[in-house]
Amino acid sequence: MKHVPFTKELIERVEKSVPTPFHIYDEAAIRANAQAFTKAFSWAPGFKNYFAVKACPNPTIMSLLKEEGFGADCSSLPELLLSERVGLTGEDVMFTSNDTPDEEFQAAVELGAIVNLDDISHIETLEKSASIPELICFRYNPGEGRTGNVIIGHPTEAKYGVTTDQLIDAYRIMKEKGSTRFGLHTMVASNELNGDYFVETARMLFALVIRIQKEAGVRIEFINMGGGIGIPYGLDDKPVDLEAVSAGMKDLYEQMIVPAGLDPLKIVFECGRMVTGPYGYLVGKVRHVTEKYKSYVGLDACMTNLMRPALYGAYHHITVLGKEGSECSEVYDVTGSLCENNDKFAIDRQLPKIDVDDIVVIHDTGAHGHAMGFNYNGKLRSAELLLKPDASVELIRRAETIEDLFSTLDFEFKTL
Ligand SMILES: *Cc1c(COP(=O)(O)O)cnc(C)c1O
Repeated sequence: MKHVPFTKELIERVEKSVPTPFHIYDEAAIRANAQAFTKAFSWAPGFKNYFAVKACPNPTIMSLLKEEGFGADCSSLPELLLSERVGLTGEDVMFTSNDTPDEEFQAAVELGAIVNLDDISHIETLEKSASIPELICFRYNPGEGRTGNVIIGHPTEAKYGVTTDQLIDAYRIMKEKGSTRFGLHTMVASNELNGDYFVETARMLFALVIRIQKEAGVRIEFINMGGGIGIPYGLDDKPVDLEAVSAGMKDLYEQMIVPAGLDPLKIVFECGRMVTGPYGYLVGKVRHVTEKYKSYVGLDACMTNLMRPALYGAYHHITVLGKEGSECSEVYDVTGSLCENNDKFAIDRQLPKIDVDDIVVIHDTGAHGHAMGFNYNGKLRSAELLLKPDASVELIRRAETIEDLFSTLDFEFKTL
């Protein structure tokens, strides 16, 4: 069973001022989860999660995570500026980008963010467009050294990171150019539910830290384990046991890093999905129930509000508010209104008998939900709401208007 942290009455009250569809996030749950993550790694020197801004780029969410001690992981200039606006600057920000325009490197260096280079050739770009920062990090791609997972693919096929052969040189070069502090990053999985996978990633990074010290004479100050910790979208999925991952990493730290004389080595992550994913809900209303060759429930929400089911065939659990206890006697495809037949939140889903105007809650939309939204078919992006610990609700992003949508258009022809 998946739980909904609000009642039908509350949504009926809210929708009088903010019509459906909207995403709503559970502040108390986000805070408790952030605290549990930090507590699980309390042994780890300098532990910090840099929240992957792309997962939920909303300043209110970023601010409350900042209050919980998190930083920001950015991949573009707008994400850097958003972080700056909520007071996350300097080394509270990681800049893990790829295929980066020169001016974004420049902005990252000026803001004092930790620049994480995706390629050895970017050393030159950085030198040309910005300056050599004191602290530099490289993203490592282990190639044949690891198997990836479904979403991110096999490392040898991934566009990201510096190869095993390039890595030592990369640090040597940066040392020669004047950097004095160094980090090592990798990200080899996405939405991974097997905790052992992360312990193995730590083993790989610890071994590299030792090798880089020996071969490049460079002492790594932190390892960044990347993001990719999965969440239980499905009813049979189990969340990653962070305490177990932490304990596994601590053993390796004591076996590898301490004897090598490399303690303290900071351990950081840049998770997005596991931070907010389970604590966001897309709330929509039933517009039509239709009988064709199958039974369809048509919502006022569509794939532009949540594209994971269409993009990855991802399962998102659905609760019909007020019918939680009813028998799931019907089988429906739950659809949106796009002129795209893959605009389906669920296919052949067993649900209670649904009526027009029922309120439908789609679970686990707190990460890569609203964030992946788009305007196809002239759809307006929805509002985002925050459910406060005292059960009040705050509007943290208004819905787009047609004026917003048209604001980049020019109805007069202009010759360039
Ligand atoms: C997407 C991404 C993250 C966050 O991934 P989650 O699956 O949301 O934890 C972190 N780092 C990088 C480089 C990413 O591309």
